[in-house]
Amino acid sequence: MVYQGNPVSEGIAMGKVMLYEPFVPAVDVATIAKDEIPAAVDHYEKARNSAKQELEALRTRLQQDDPQKAKIITAHMDILFDVAMEEEIHDAISDGKSTEAAVDKIFKKYIKIISKAADERIRERASDLEDVRCRLLRNCMGVPERNLAFLTEPVIVVAKDLFPSDTASMDRKKVQAIVTEVGGPTSHTAIIARSYEIPALLGVENALSLLHNGQSVVVDAVDGRLMTDPSEEELKEYGKKADLFQLRAEETKKYLDGDAFTKDGTKIEVELNIGSANAQEIDGMRHTNGVGLFRSEFLYMGRDTLPTEEEQYKIYRKVLMQAGDDPVILRTLDIGGDKKLDCLQLPKEDNPFLGNRALRLCLSHRDIFKTQLRAALRAGTAGNLWLMFPMVGSLDDIRNAKEVVREVQQELDCEKIEYSKKIKIGIMIEIPAIAMIADLAVKEVDFASIGTNDLCQYTTAVDRMNQNIAKYYQSYHPALLRLIRYAVEQFHKAGKPISVCGELGGDRLAMPVLLGFGMRRVSMGISAVARAKKIISRLDLGEARNMAERVCQMETAGDVEAYLTDALKDIL
Ligand code: PEP
Ligand code: MG
Repeated sequence: MVYQGNPVSEGIAMGKVMLYEPFVPAVDVATIAKDEIPAAVDHYEKARNSAKQELEALRTRLQQDDPQKAKIITAHMDILFDVAMEEEIHDAISDGKSTEAAVDKIFKKYIKIISKAADERIRERASDLEDVRCRLLRNCMGVPERNLAFLTEPVIVVAKDLFPSDTASMDRKKVQAIVTEVGGPTSHTAIIARSYEIPALLGVENALSLLHNGQSVVVDAVDGRLMTDPSEEELKEYGKKADLFQLRAEETKKYLDGDAFTKDGTKIEVELNIGSANAQEIDGMRHTNGVGLFRSEFLYMGRDTLPTEEEQYKIYRKVLMQAGDDPVILRTLDIGGDKKLDCLQLPKEDNPFLGNRALRLCLSHRDIFKTQLRAALRAGTAGNLWLMFPMVGSLDDIRNAKEVVREVQQELDCEKIEYSKKIKIGIMIEIPAIAMIADLAVKEVDFASIGTNDLCQYTTAVDRMNQNIAKYYQSYHPALLRLIRYAVEQFHKAGKPISVCGELGGDRLAMPVLLGFGMRRVSMGISAVARAKKIISRLDLGEARNMAERVCQMETAGDVEAYLTDALKDIL
């Protein structure tokens, strides 16, 4: 049998299934008498201490192996000793709940709140709380720890979902692949699988009931397939595919460092998409020609108050200093649509993606916009700042945004505060209306970057978050490609930089099309950088131009994809 899954960490593995079902506590809604309260509180403290000891042991092990992963355990420790939750658990016990019932109630309350967050990345953090809930309850119940840290033989781990502590502590030499029933590309499991380079196939429906322990399977986390009980012949075939994949992966890694040149010697600027100034993001900048998209809204998420000017200033400055002379494209706050803030209550909208989002929201909340612009302009003295406005739909939008920048500059002048006078001002092209008047927009700005994620959503009229209609969200739609071609032509004519910072910028099939249109800058997440550089090095611009012209004349996205897959089969 063959089952489909979402390949979130590429690779191919063949091996035996190990069904992994982490401890799931069954909690009775038990009540206690008044005189039992002190013992219940004591029970909670003891369980918490033994959970703490487990976490400490795990953290010590990880600190030697992988300090980055140890941070997950530190976050769990923080949850375990969260003062607000502790207080509420004590109150629940005082109200007559048993230790287990109190812990369960309060953790579930917080999990519910976090699970409702609009931002997928914050929602995913509910799994940390769930992880700690189970650990604490297991300790309350006196059940010993079970995890993936000690495996005796190589296995393919199959689970409903994995807790962050499972993935962080697992014996990565023994885990050949991970298959789960749930989880998306931004889940902990996906992030850790990628960083450990373990093939991972998530979202395989009913995997736990379809598979059994010791069953022979092939996990093809390249094409998103899980094959059970493969024949000798199929194993041989997959063996070859796995060797080839391995060979290519090793070869691709060699491209991470150094500049990217096409086969005929044209330099392509490969830039990085970031969402913070944490160590991992800063480290990624070593391999790229600057930051092509700094999604500044992540600094505003998951907190109760808006970030201050000073906080933002420090973060922007850190990134700019790290980039040196390379540009840092700082996108101003892009909130609304799928991204919501805890620190800013906004009215509910029927169509949030068509609503008061991004630049529109900034123009209607000038104080927030101005604080960000002040921080950015001040930080600009530390490097090469390019300021970019998201969701621009008209020249009015551009002019209004630039007017606010001018106001902020005047205020800083009046206050005699130093700021950069050399910044570039640009726009994201992610609404078809602005793409279609790129000839006019280019006169108003210094540069543009194409946000293909939204440009695709608005061109094809498909909500990019709605999985039920995902097949209508066609990144290779000829209409989208024609819009990109037009925008690139207009910016080239004007001699101004244009790039792509949506997912298409790091897409392996799209690269020849983008270069063929004349694109010379692409921006992407770190995991796509080496592969993009490799593809660039194997492309000839003349051939790329022909391919780009050809796809614009094609009839459907399927035709484009099939053509590019075939044309690039020897390159990828
Ligand atoms: C885009 O829309 O392509 C883009 C880069 O912005 P975001 O994905 O953050 O909306
Ligand atoms: Mg966008």
